[in-house]
Amino acid sequence: MKRRDFLFKGILAAGAAPFVGHLGYNDSASVETDAICKSTARNIIFLVSDGMSSGTLAMADHLFKRKMGRLSTWMQLYHDKKITRAIMDTASANSMITDSAAASSAWGGGVRVVNGALNMGANGEEYEPILQKFKASGKSVGCVTTVPITHATPAGFCVNMPSRNQQAEIAEVYKSLKFDVMMGGGNEYFNKDIRSDGRDMYAEFSSEGFQVVRDKKSMQLLIPGAPILGVFSDSGVPYTVDQQSDNTISSSVPTLAEMTRKAIECMSLNKKGFVLQVEGGKVDWAAHANDTSALVYDQIAFDDAVTEAINFAEMDKKTLVIITTDHGNGNPALIYGSKADTNFDRLFNVRQSNEWILDNIKRGESVASVRERIEHAWGVGVKAEEASEIQAFYNEIKANGDPEDIKKPFRPLALLQEKYFSVGWACMQHTSDFVEFAAFGPAKDLFPAFLLNTDVHHLMLKACGVENK
Ligand SMILES: [Zn+2]
Repeated sequence: MKRRDFLFKGILAAGAAPFVGHLGYNDSASVETDAICKSTARNIIFLVSDGMSSGTLAMADHLFKRKMGRLSTWMQLYHDKKITRAIMDTASANSMITDSAAASSAWGGGVRVVNGALNMGANGEEYEPILQKFKASGKSVGCVTTVPITHATPAGFCVNMPSRNQQAEIAEVYKSLKFDVMMGGGNEYFNKDIRSDGRDMYAEFSSEGFQVVRDKKSMQLLIPGAPILGVFSDSGVPYTVDQQSDNTISSSVPTLAEMTRKAIECMSLNKKGFVLQVEGGKVDWAAHANDTSALVYDQIAFDDAVTEAINFAEMDKKTLVIITTDHGNGNPALIYGSKADTNFDRLFNVRQSNEWILDNIKRGESVASVRERIEHAWGVGVKAEEASEIQAFYNEIKANGDPEDIKKPFRPLALLQEKYFSVGWACMQHTSDFVEFAAFGPAKDLFPAFLLNTDVHHLMLKACGVENK
């Protein structure tokens, strides 16, 4: 056992990771830091489809096969036996069911923390985030995402923060970290007109030497060199299905694959390598909303980012690609029935997300209009009484009231969609499922068939031969 491995196991034994043993697993069960690393990776591309239940992966692959006539890239890698495949236990320090902050911290800091925290223990202990470790080793580092760049999953690779909700502060930390590429949504945490302290973070990043871009065209024109901040929407970027139906959005907001390609292009010039996290963050948001139309097309957009990563890694031969998720969410499924296959194929023709339907209904809107709206979004007609049930929720909005005042009927709309698409949901929250974990490229054999989320931290460092302090 090497010294650093001893130290790591010592930390666990000393109880710094309070959750160890909760599920009956202990550190020695899966941490194979003594495993022989046959080859070293120079780069890592870590792709996480946030909140991806196995039904999400399966349905996206069904859609690829039935609509596009090919497998998803993720499944193609399995088919071609190019991947080390594992399942991962995703628990946090205080629950079998993690949130995205604790999940990303487990990978990012190597220690399980309580839900909501970013790489900080109960007594204020700070666990050094993995991108800080890789940056110190000379590599370029960065994150791209479809949710705010200050959100839990990218932040868990970058910062120490008591709460994931401190996104305005996380933006400030990013400025001092000066990581090479940080791109996604989150204008509300950078824009002086929206931040409660009125700080103009764009101006501050620029004066620190960052190239700041706010739209797709400027992003594509970026040249490697100075660190990059790209922010393309107030909160998360629009769902893929909505982006594809709106030329204004699709011409101004880059896809996750486009952000991934640009990040690789900029960082791969570093001879010491790079480490990039790519997050399909809105897969999780779609699952919380039981928004089937949004979910499957955001998972497909995630797979397009996987394609970018694999294409680069196939050519480069020095890049470890990890493809996984941080936890299940909603546990959707295509459900058995005589019309299930044809109902599922209706997803070929959806034009808008359920969020688009519900965000656009106005108080006093007629049932006929709501019915038309649903039909436009889904490409399938619904009954007047079904549209009426959805419309009824909007009668609760007071005159001159804000539609935000009501709880939008995502769940009732999902139950209606299930009738026509045969896709049902177990819940609107995270689940404790073991999740899919795939590794491609040099050092892929380091990953055992069953691993804890915390193991990933230590194994990524080992894969690159970077000291695990
Ligand atoms: Zn979530």
